[in-house]
Amino acid sequence: MTMHWSAGVLRRAGIAGANFLRSGMALCPRQAAGILLRGGWPPAPVSKMATVRSELLKNFTPEEAVRHNKVSIIGTGSVGMACAISILLKGLSDELAFVDVDEGKLKGEMMDLQHGSLFMKMPNIVSSKDYRVTANSNLVIITAGVRQEKGETRLNLVQRNVSIFKAIIPSITQYSPSCKLIVVSNPVDVLTYVVWKLSKFPKNRIIGSGCNLDTARFRFLIGQRLGIHSESCHGWILGEHGDSSVPVWSGVNIAGVSLQNLNSGLGSDKDGEQWDNIHKEVIASAYEIIKLKGYTSWAIGLSVADLVESILKNLRRVHPVSTIIKGFYGINEEIFLSVPCVLGENGITDIIKVNLTSEEEGRLKKSAETLWEIQKEFKF
Ligand code: NAD
Repeated sequence: MTMHWSAGVLRRAGIAGANFLRSGMALCPRQAAGILLRGGWPPAPVSKMATVRSELLKNFTPEEAVRHNKVSIIGTGSVGMACAISILLKGLSDELAFVDVDEGKLKGEMMDLQHGSLFMKMPNIVSSKDYRVTANSNLVIITAGVRQEKGETRLNLVQRNVSIFKAIIPSITQYSPSCKLIVVSNPVDVLTYVVWKLSKFPKNRIIGSGCNLDTARFRFLIGQRLGIHSESCHGWILGEHGDSSVPVWSGVNIAGVSLQNLNSGLGSDKDGEQWDNIHKEVIASAYEIIKLKGYTSWAIGLSVADLVESILKNLRRVHPVSTIIKGFYGINEEIFLSVPCVLGENGITDIIKVNLTSEEEGRLKKSAETLWEIQKEFKF
């Protein structure tokens, strides 16, 4: 079979470009010029001889794939792959691109997912350590970085992950200047601030996964106590993801029935039922899971896919995610903490002004002070 152009094309595409070729696949010049960034079905090889493909198919139009819901995931570790499978199972994306520094793992994860195509309506899945593979993403999810070691606090992780982010954020923004960014890597609130600074994106397009997972754990545990599904147990954890998070007990309700109206001490030291143990369990659970299985993955992956759904479908649902809260609750620094936010196609469009008790507000301010102590040392 005579290929007229492939060698030249591969030279133009460069070695990195060739990395996201699938075996047996050749490029047409138009696609090579578009540098494979859009992925898509393998193009027909240019050949003078009849092939099964040319005998089978009569091409109507040389169609360029246009991606509307491309999602890129940076970091194909446990969390990145849990996000990927959750997004795939919900059918949210028309192209999924992966980037990681570990090329072997990257290719292995991509191939393993691709081979599941038969069992669900799989979008195009591409990967490379070259960020061109992420071009024109609608949404980029950052899970890259070093993970929490046994017993290590999230804040201890910070310096190691800031250096990694300095390398990856400019590459993401270069190829997807209009994307929304979801930050998952820990310590998530501080790193969301770092991403905002490094990307220079408007604040609505920077979303930290924040207390979305803490709130899911909280609602699950309330449900366990009451024998009611977590979807029907309403309650919010706000503030810092992790150790200093703030449960808003005044808002906990089932079908509009406030639990604090039934037990005025709910969540406080005066509560004989010790409902606050639920919040303690939320804080301890990440440490416990890491001790038991080495990392957490499924719940964070599912919770990120829920955020992705709100954004890509422009649902305008409200989620407890990390955003800049300077000017609220007496916080005057550029601090990212979780508050209920309206999420849609433009990212965070509004935040819900929650009335906190003076004690809750005090706890939020204390988190903000702790985070600022760390953030003010950063040089960008
Ligand atoms: P992991 O070690 O399994 O995966 C991290 C991946 O990042 C690895 O594959 C690694 O090769 C990759 N990586 C490292 N440097 C990179 C770089 N410069 N560019 C691209 N990729 C790079 O870790 P994990 O368990 O998947 O956790 C990922 C992050 O998510 C951690 O920071 C963890 O603490 C955090 N996390 C956050 C939440 C949350 O609720 N926000 C929950 C769980 C985990």
